[in-house]
Amino acid sequence: MNRRNFVKATGLAAFGSVTIGTASATPDRDKYRPGGPKLGSQKSISLDAFHTNEELTTELEKIERQSGRVSLEEIGRSAGRNDPIWEVKVGDGDTEIHLVTQIHGDEAIGTEVALKVIKTLGTSNSRQVDHILENLSFTIVPRVNPDGAMYHYDFDGDDEDEWVGRRQNTQAWTGESRYRPYYHSTYPAGDPGYDMNRDFNVRPPSEFDPRTEDEASWWADGQYMDMPYEGHTLFASGLRLAPEVRAVTESFNDADPDYAITHHHKGGNLYPGTGDGNEPKKQTLMSVMASYGEDYLDRSPFFPDGHTPVSEAVNPFLDSDTSTRSIKLNSLVIDALAERGNSIFDSITRYGYYPLWGSYLDSLCPNLANDGDSAAGMLYEVAYQTDDLGQKGIGRQMELTKVGFLESFDALADDPELREYSTETYFDTPLYGEEVQLR
Ligand SMILES: [Zn+2]
Repeated sequence: MNRRNFVKATGLAAFGSVTIGTASATPDRDKYRPGGPKLGSQKSISLDAFHTNEELTTELEKIERQSGRVSLEEIGRSAGRNDPIWEVKVGDGDTEIHLVTQIHGDEAIGTEVALKVIKTLGTSNSRQVDHILENLSFTIVPRVNPDGAMYHYDFDGDDEDEWVGRRQNTQAWTGESRYRPYYHSTYPAGDPGYDMNRDFNVRPPSEFDPRTEDEASWWADGQYMDMPYEGHTLFASGLRLAPEVRAVTESFNDADPDYAITHHHKGGNLYPGTGDGNEPKKQTLMSVMASYGEDYLDRSPFFPDGHTPVSEAVNPFLDSDTSTRSIKLNSLVIDALAERGNSIFDSITRYGYYPLWGSYLDSLCPNLANDGDSAAGMLYEVAYQTDDLGQKGIGRQMELTKVGFLESFDALADDPELREYSTETYFDTPLYGEEVQLR
């Protein structure tokens, strides 16, 4: 997910001085645009450090065999490569957690960490793991996008394909919806595919098929489906055209989770307030984001005066309790990382939230398939690091993510309501700062 365009378009500075916000009945379309693949950043990491789809399968099967308490199920196949999409279940607790990684194929770190976490939960007999598994049940989809994960093309023009990964899956649009949606593209090398984190739809499959049951009047610019629902217009809703998205939707609806976590990468951004005067530049290595409903409308940084439409500012299908738990889950991770007392962990920022109606977080967390028994959501984005701002390498990003995941699970096992955490920790955390160029 890339909010940079929207931040620029509104002229909002890093600190979110809440002076913007002109009421508008039409959305800023720029903000729905998927970011392009972060090709500049690909040079700084070696994908060879990551599991291929085949290696991922082998590793998951090995963990299942060794563990005795992990169950592995193929829930679908990718559109282009026909590679398996795996779902892992572990734990016996009452609190259900749904976790997905690498919905964008060029964002592999979440999957690598998920694999470590699955192994730990599946094979460790530590007291911490016992405690977690007694209280929590996990449904994990590591690597939602096997096509994008393995994407090769001639990136540097040497007539040989490089393994670079890309954001989209590999899937042509062949007229299966009224229009070709805005999140389908052939970037970067002519191969068609969907940005799958724009392809979800809030209405459950049992109730509505956006591929065929839409109306012509809902469409804007021949590419955005602005779906009316429950008195709202859900701008740029997804069409569930990708089989991967349909599989994840079903996985989520079956799991009926209390918490939903999605992991991404981002480009480089400065930690606000650094890089000015004598203050050295410091990069924010992780940004987090909560999803919340109307009770927190006044905290929505892009719509400070409660401007309409509400569904542009907050997710109106998330109740007060769920919204609070979502924000506290983010507070917990911010606290947990800060307490590590290590300078690489104290650069956490947040995104100013607004809903993306085709995203996993905003379409699935309302959980309308289960009578709106909504899930508290959290989005992680870890940054690639630049040489001059910090030590490069994937080790730190993996460590940040792993600490975030395990601390979250431990705290949720203690108290699924997260009563000891404050929503203010989240809102006191700065919005991410200006973009830095990656080499
Ligand atoms: Zn992403």
